[in-house]
Order: sequence, then structure tokens, then C-alpha cells
Amino acid sequence: MSQSLTIALSKGRILDDTLPLLKLAGIEPIEDLEKSRKLIFPTSDPDVRLLIVRATDVPTYVELGAADLGVAGKDVLMEYDSQGLYEPLDLKIANCRLMTAGPVNTPEPKGRLRVATKFVNVARRYYAEQGRQVEVIKLYGSMELAPLVGLADKIIDVVDTGNTLRANGLEPQELICHISSRLIVNKAAMKMKHARIKALIDVLGDAVERRSETE
Ligand code: AMP
Repeated sequence: MSQSLTIALSKGRILDDTLPLLKLAGIEPIEDLEKSRKLIFPTSDPDVRLLIVRATDVPTYVELGAADLGVAGKDVLMEYDSQGLYEPLDLKIANCRLMTAGPVNTPEPKGRLRVATKFVNVARRYYAEQGRQVEVIKLYGSMELAPLVGLADKIIDVVDTGNTLRANGLEPQELICHISSRLIVNKAAMKMKHARIKALIDVLGDAVERRSETE
């Protein structure tokens, strides 16, 4: 197997925070990813290319081997819920919290709770662990709207500052877990390209450590 590497990333926070780490490993995209509509980018390392995919698709590309490595939020990985990937490194970037949220000062309904979210697997597991009966409603975005128009009692979403919730009359309630982005690796690639991938994990791991020490 060739020692070339394909790394799947998503635009936004993850890309912004991952590029400085990759740079320390000698990997820099040759053109500005944010300005281009292309989806495959060569880098300063002729053996490394970057793929730009939807955040929720990163685990799929990596598990099925279209990419050797990727960077995905723990929220996405919890929802994807597969044993088919390695997750060797917490990059400690794009930090936020996965939380339940609901209208301010509103008591919980007596009957079955209706929860709107794009994290349906996470929601089912969370409430099942608590032995609570809930109806989970799958949405793809603008979750904050659901309680305002009577579609759901609560939502489950990622929260950073909480400003988006507050702007919509909602408040963060229960913390489900802390979220950060993780490096993920295809299992076959980890075996076949072990030296190459291990070296990259080590450089990125050192960079994460050094950054934590200066914070
Ligand atoms: P907030 O700062 O809580 O108002 O967050 C703004 C929006 O960005 C929220 O609706 C979240 O869905 C989203 N968000 C915040 N932090 C992250 C993150 N680390 N990863 C993905 N989405 C996020």
C-alpha cells in the first residue's frame, strides 16, 4: 500500500483549528480552502491531500477507507456510533457541550417528553439510561425553533456560549457531555501505513500538549 495519506476535514471551526496543527506537521494546503469550491486539495507534502466533506460525513469517509484520517467532533462520532474507527487523539479544538435545552422557566410536561434534535441516537441513549420515555423528533437544523412553535418540549444541541439559545428564549438545562474534535483513523490504514500515521499522531499530540501548557 502506498504511504500517501488522505485526510477528511469539514469547513468551519474544525478546519480553522486543524490547519495550524497540520502546519506543525509540515502539511499546508497549497491554496486557500475557504475561497475555493474544490473538494480535494493537494498540500505542501506531495504525499498528503485533504478532502472537504460535510462534518457528519467525515466518519463515513474514514470508516470506509476513502480517507485514511479525519477530524470529527465527538458529537458527530457519538451519533455515528461505530466500532469501525480508531480515535487515537483528542485534538482539544472546537470545544463545546452537548446539552438539553428548553424554554426559560417552563415546567416539564407531565406526559411523554418530545425532544427535537439532529442527534437522535444520542437522545435515545441518553433518555433510555434515565429510564425516561421520550418521543425523539429528527431535525436537520434550526433546532431552537421547535419548542417555540410547539413541535417539541425540548431540544438536544451543541452549545458554546449559549447565545443562540438565549436569543430564542431557551436555556441550557442538562449537560450530556463535553465535546471536542478527535482525530479518527481508518483501521486498515492504521495497520498498512502504521509508521506514517503514527508519526503524524505523535506530531499532532505534541502540538496539542504544547498548546494546553501555554493556555
Ligand atoms: P452558541 O455560542 O452557543 O450560541 O453557539 C452557536 C451555534 O453554533 C449553536 O447553535 C451550535 O449549534 C453551534 N456550535 C457552537 N459550538 C460548536 C462546535 N464546537 N461544533 C459545532 N457546532 C457548534
